Amino acid sequence: MNKVAAKSTELSGVPIQQDGAWHALPADQALEDFQTSPQGLDAEQASERLAQYGPNRLDPPRRRGPLIRFLSQFNNVLIYVLLLAALVTAALAHWVDTSVILAVVVINAIIGFVQEGRAESALEAIRNMLSLAAIVERAGRKIEIPAEDVVPGDIIHLQSGDKVPADLRLIRVKGLQIQEAILTGESVPVDKAVSPVAEDAALGDRFSMAYSGTMVTHGQGCGVVVATGAKTEIGRISALLSEVTTLTTPLLRQMSTFGRKLSAAIMAVAFVTFAIGVWVHGRGAADMFVGAVALAVAAIPEGLPAIMTIALATGVQRMAARRAIIRRLPVVEALGSVSVICSDKTGTLTRNEMTVQSLATGKHLYAVTGTGYRPEGAFELDGKPVKPDDHPGLTEMARGALLCSDAGLHESDGQWSVDGDPTEGALVALAMKAELEPGTENRQLPRHDVIPFESEHRFMATLHHHAEGHGFIYVKGAPERILAMCNSQGGPDYQEVLDRPYWEARMQEMAENGQRVLALAFRPTHNGHHQLVFDDVKQDLVLIGLYGLVDPPRDEAIAAVAKCRAAGIAVKMITGDHAITAGAIARQLGLGDGEPVVSGHELDGLDDDALRAVAQKSHVFARTSPEHKLRLVKALQAEGHVVAMTGDGVNDAPALKRADVGVAMGQKGNEAAKEAAEMVLVDDNFASIAAAVEEGRTVYDNLVKSILFILPSSGGEALTIVMALALGQLLPITAPQILWVNMITAVTLALALAFEPAEDNVMKRQPRRRDAPLLSGFLIWRTIFVSLILVAGVYGVFVWFQNRGADLEVSRTVAVNTLVMFELFYLFNARFLTASAFNRQGLLGSRAVLIAVALVVLFQLIYTYAPPMQYLFESVAIPPLGWAMAVGVGFSVFVLVEIEKACLRHWQKRKTG
Ligand code: ATP
Repeated sequence: MNKVAAKSTELSGVPIQQDGAWHALPADQALEDFQTSPQGLDAEQASERLAQYGPNRLDPPRRRGPLIRFLSQFNNVLIYVLLLAALVTAALAHWVDTSVILAVVVINAIIGFVQEGRAESALEAIRNMLSLAAIVERAGRKIEIPAEDVVPGDIIHLQSGDKVPADLRLIRVKGLQIQEAILTGESVPVDKAVSPVAEDAALGDRFSMAYSGTMVTHGQGCGVVVATGAKTEIGRISALLSEVTTLTTPLLRQMSTFGRKLSAAIMAVAFVTFAIGVWVHGRGAADMFVGAVALAVAAIPEGLPAIMTIALATGVQRMAARRAIIRRLPVVEALGSVSVICSDKTGTLTRNEMTVQSLATGKHLYAVTGTGYRPEGAFELDGKPVKPDDHPGLTEMARGALLCSDAGLHESDGQWSVDGDPTEGALVALAMKAELEPGTENRQLPRHDVIPFESEHRFMATLHHHAEGHGFIYVKGAPERILAMCNSQGGPDYQEVLDRPYWEARMQEMAENGQRVLALAFRPTHNGHHQLVFDDVKQDLVLIGLYGLVDPPRDEAIAAVAKCRAAGIAVKMITGDHAITAGAIARQLGLGDGEPVVSGHELDGLDDDALRAVAQKSHVFARTSPEHKLRLVKALQAEGHVVAMTGDGVNDAPALKRADVGVAMGQKGNEAAKEAAEMVLVDDNFASIAAAVEEGRTVYDNLVKSILFILPSSGGEALTIVMALALGQLLPITAPQILWVNMITAVTLALALAFEPAEDNVMKRQPRRRDAPLLSGFLIWRTIFVSLILVAGVYGVFVWFQNRGADLEVSRTVAVNTLVMFELFYLFNARFLTASAFNRQGLLGSRAVLIAVALVVLFQLIYTYAPPMQYLFESVAIPPLGWAMAVGVGFSVFVLVEIEKACLRHWQKRKTG
């Protein structure tokens, strides 16, 4: 007996269904077995069943257990080197060194463990923000609920773009196609049907079922839930619906390869140093070994990977706070180098708060008053109020608007809002202004069938039958599309020949005002007509009139467009709307500078080369379909651009996948688009894309800053040791001491850089080239420059104290403190790549930096004065002069790097200006 059926036996009074082969049973049987009907369960039944069956979700992907995560911290070349060093120091009976090295290894692992855990949880929390919703029929009403609350026996409505929320036995389908690759591996969508299939049909042949986690690619359907959660097919094969986000990106991978190569090179140098010391200079192997270990320990930037991960996770969190949710981590880097953003218009650049403002019939042009979805307003003709009762054309426009729409309006706390498509919400509000009552109209002229709106065909049609028997088809959609279907104009009661130029002029007027124009047409039909097909609306329609809807641009989108332009990012509007409307809205947004709008039709006529030129030059594309989006992305990428592209429909998925940054809409986007996208906008707002780009640039800057901070520190330490070994002198800093410095600076100073806010100019510079190397000439130069300052200072202070006859311990303690002070002051330089840090913002602007500085000072006082530290690290109390030298010499790096930055800025200006 299968598990689904086993569950169904638990329903009180439900006949026991032995094999649960729902696909082989009639749909009615499934309804009966689950004690439900096409009207769905009521709230009480639903909550009982939820308690009985539990929430409809799969266990989240298993994360690695804490022990494995902790142990994996040791899986690192550097740690192997350190462990080897501990082993050899133990063999040499240098017990203190051994324990310090081991302690550092463990502490490092703990830090890595905690930080990685926090980063993972942060990402997990963000992923949970993208929960799935389902449209269910409950007590005869269609409502949207979280997919987790779906229970067996629920009636679920499906439409293209939906992800099926549970296993369903289909009870009604209309052109329903589902892509089941997740279960069957087959990427071609399957046509679904209601009739039962053979009991032994393979999963992919069970056409009467829709399985949880699969994607509706076409049509509509409705089914009864037969399994939820772990009992679904996907739950049983325990495939995971959401992929596991790994904490890595190309850049991090590049860095870790670089780190490995660097470690190998450093070990080779350390070995050569050791060999020369022992075999050429004849020095003691034990001494030289300690020196070689010190060199390896100093040169390897062990803190870097952890810091980079944190910088990335912090960036992702900041983006989520700014309403952009990252679904795939690597995209954070691509975001920083985006050079073109292609955006939809409706709802992204505009507010998606539609209101019908004008109506054109064959005789008149009416103005409609009122704002938003509140169904209160009046009609005016030539500035004078008119009553719909006296204007049959107007009433017919209102009725068609109501009947040929799926949206509903509701009021809560005095605010009217729309359930469904805003365009249709505006039409329903219009009908209510004309005193039509949705319930009554739908009862008098019930809908028998529908061709739903799709961006590809740009219209929607509904079939209605009057109680007396005669039927109507209403068609509404893009005006040029509807006009092509009509040969007459008027209404049900009178008709005349279509005056095409008249309508085209009206359309033009409305669109020039930035209005979205829709046309309404109708056709009488016969009694027995119950199924609507495309051929029914191809021709011979009667045009009733045009609606002009306003949808004002979002204020924040206007500002964001300007911001993007200043940041060297081109913004392109790619809309399904009419060219004239698109042009008018583009002008309001400051887009395109009045250049001609390119239509989808024109794009069709271009070959790939011509398209590249047009894609590069033009900014507004109208009457486009999803295929145009794909072609435009490809063309722009061929021109070397890093492209962000928005989309909301199932057909946008290929373009979203192809784009460097696919952006799906959180509200109006469907699951297929979200699945294909790398980023989801919680509020559908263009400004959130700009914000994400800004954060992407900041993350990249912070990664570079972390590298820029850590590499010179390691470099300076390593050079100090090499110099001492080369000159055959005492080491100014021992291996355990270097480990100490690296450890405390990594958890304080370097970490602070991961939280750096954006620099002022972050959106004023050109986008970073995607192929720009991470280790740029600038980075290498800065590393060498600062390393040299550090060597000179640390070595100089050590030698100076030695020459004045100070104890070795005193000289070394001063040298260690000098090194730490260098790093402390250099942190202030590193906060800005080339901008000056010598101002209030630079010195006091970051709380993280100030806390880190305070902690480091505290650690150094403990290091210098606490007896256990003195025992472990051979540190001793130092005289005031020692502190003065450490601070004074340390401060020099701040001054020198600021001078270097000033020179760089000067040269940059000369180059650009
Ligand atoms: P964008 O691609 O910027 O979001 P859009 O929303 O205008 O633009 P579509 O939704 O593809 O693009 O709409 C294209 C055209 O189809 C609209 O200009 C309108 O004329 C028509 N249209 C839009 N919604 C409906 C609807 N619900 N019913 C009928 N026709 C519609």
